[in-house]
Amino acid sequence: MDILLDVHTHTIASGHAFSTLQEMVRTAADKGLKILGITEHSPGIPGTCELIYFRNLHVVPRNMYGVELLLGAEMNIIDYKGNVDMPEEYFSMLDLRIAGIHSLCYQSGTIDENTQAIVGAVRNPAIQIISHPSDGTVPLHFEPIVLAAKENHTLLEINNSSLKPARHKGSARDNNIQLLRLCKKYEMPVILGSDAHISFDIANYEFLYELLVETDFPESLIVNTQIDLFRTFLE
Ligand SMILES: [Zn+2]
Ligand SMILES: [Zn+2]
Repeated sequence: MDILLDVHTHTIASGHAFSTLQEMVRTAADKGLKILGITEHSPGIPGTCELIYFRNLHVVPRNMYGVELLLGAEMNIIDYKGNVDMPEEYFSMLDLRIAGIHSLCYQSGTIDENTQAIVGAVRNPAIQIISHPSDGTVPLHFEPIVLAAKENHTLLEINNSSLKPARHKGSARDNNIQLLRLCKKYEMPVILGSDAHISFDIANYEFLYELLVETDFPESLIVNTQIDLFRTFLE
């Protein structure tokens, strides 16, 4: 596969990541990417950037070293309606709006409540990608999520980071397989995300390839190899 983009990454601005923005873009260029997304955590995560960081994103050039840079946020889903922890007035300042469940900012409910939370975020027209829905942080029904994602043209991410042994996310592998099978069945594209917290991990999808093989997942449904298809989800 010719990987052209990775749009879920973090810099030192997120407080628990280790590379600067410029180091990240330089590495993306060295790895041959055309598009890099940097999506810092929104304020619910301890130690991340304040809202003023997002307000100032306009100072950063969107093209560096031949790489197109998308600057956004990974927001926290905070309730069973799928609300996020960033004021809507900030949405227009972001090139990219990702939302996901993080245990520090979300109280797990029943499987139906958690599913509603994700579906609520999927239905939010400002949200373009749901980060790591299958990482096992909370139990979910995946079929309604895939159907809502298809209907609302929202991408579901298959996240490499949550499969790292150090993360101890035991159900992530089986959940990802389930999600990939459903996306294949309903012909819903997915996005692979590195969730890199250091430059070396940009476009590192090492734990995902075997899942794609196991599910015989069609490359035509992977947006990382098709920039035009990816862009349709930004609109
Ligand atoms: Zn996350
Ligand atoms: Zn992340």
